[in-house]
Amino acid sequence: MTEKKIPYKIYLEEKEIPTSWYNMRADMKEKPAPLLNPGTLQPMTKEELAGVFCDDLIDQELNDTDAFIPIPEEIQEYYKTYRPSPTVRAYNLEKALGTPAKIYYKFEGNNTSGSHKLNSAIAQAYYAKKQGLKGVTTETGAGQWGTALSMACAYFGLDCKVYMVKVSYEQKPFRREVMRTYGASVTPSPSDTTAVGRKILAEHPGTTGSLGCAISEAVEAATSAPGYRYVLGSVLNQVLLHQSVIGLEAKKALDKYGVVPDIIIGCAGGGSNLGGLIAPFMGEKLRGERDYRFIAVEPASCPSFTRGKFVYDFCDTGMVCPLAKMYTLGSGFIPSPNHAGGLRFHGMSPILSQLYHDGFMEARTVEQTSVFEAATIFAQYEGILPAPESSHSIRAAIDEALKCKETGEEKTILFGLTGTGYFDMLAYEQYNNRTMHDEIPSDEDLKPSLNAIPAFPGNE
Ligand SMILES: *Cc1c(COP(=O)(O)O)cnc(C)c1O
Repeated sequence: MTEKKIPYKIYLEEKEIPTSWYNMRADMKEKPAPLLNPGTLQPMTKEELAGVFCDDLIDQELNDTDAFIPIPEEIQEYYKTYRPSPTVRAYNLEKALGTPAKIYYKFEGNNTSGSHKLNSAIAQAYYAKKQGLKGVTTETGAGQWGTALSMACAYFGLDCKVYMVKVSYEQKPFRREVMRTYGASVTPSPSDTTAVGRKILAEHPGTTGSLGCAISEAVEAATSAPGYRYVLGSVLNQVLLHQSVIGLEAKKALDKYGVVPDIIIGCAGGGSNLGGLIAPFMGEKLRGERDYRFIAVEPASCPSFTRGKFVYDFCDTGMVCPLAKMYTLGSGFIPSPNHAGGLRFHGMSPILSQLYHDGFMEARTVEQTSVFEAATIFAQYEGILPAPESSHSIRAAIDEALKCKETGEEKTILFGLTGTGYFDMLAYEQYNNRTMHDEIPSDEDLKPSLNAIPAFPGNE
């Protein structure tokens, strides 16, 4: 009865956009481990990080005590151009599946970058501008982060240098042109424009690149040019902090109708959308106020949570970045060039890694063809053409809804629909032509990069 009153789309008003980010670390008893200096194995100090990252962002990175961090006015003004994003009840999908489950998704694809990444890009560009920098460098895998950062830099008048994983650069020429339209320069990685790129090319001629390589190049480009800093679109604590707008809005929308999710699902590449979506709900769980099931979904081809080790490792292939304690497949891991471009990182957010390690979260893998099957069902019934990355969470949401069909349970499921897939039509073409394959690394395949994780006392 009350059910009927819930609209297809729950929109918040502009004045309901969050004015503070929520920092899960404040409520974690076991804090995520600090970044370590690979030379001294001591926690990275603010001074050491200042050569690489913007000052205010370092403060956010190291802040594990303040639960709420105010969102500066200028960032709020930009958020208003594309937020609040809708929380949608997937009535049509529920009907098609014949499930008693109630399915909701938070849709982050309604901006030109086509994903949630703009939520952090605009924040990072703002702090770079505030510090008086000339520009920023970064890497991009599938291209969404590079696009989001290009948009943010154009808005604040910053130079933007993007190192784009070579396989994506070649597969997604239109992504590259969107970035250039916003004024960014885009270099395929590995490239011969950096020392680390030249080294990687010499060791792995013909490599299609990886996020880890591109990060090394972008860090070198930032630290070797005055007035530049490096920015990263996922994994870091600050990025999860910025992405908490997703969860704060979703929770506010559901609260209006008294809806409490039982299961919250998100795809996990570096963990930023998942960390953002679950943030306020996880806060309740951490404080012992309410219980939820959280499910991280990763590709079977890049299974950091489910088959990685929880140890200190480099975030990049060139081993120039600090060490982070996280679930990792080893920084030398180069996943097969599958289509979930944004989920191909070897490591995972230290915050989510700690929560998973402490049993606050579950993780599972899904295979590429079953992901595209879910994407197709979703597109046909809900109308939105989903990004391959997002379709990992669709797969898990559909699987949970089908379980409810078997058991008759009326569970409420919330999942993150992180973006749209218009630039991924080559992948859809392969799926439609039945030429798509599932690439699952064997234990033998994973061994070399796992064994190459730096060894030091306590790191096993
Ligand atoms: C980058 C990206 C992801 C994965 O990144 P996370 O940091 O794990 O959120 C997921 N979906 C889309 C659409 C992306 O662009």
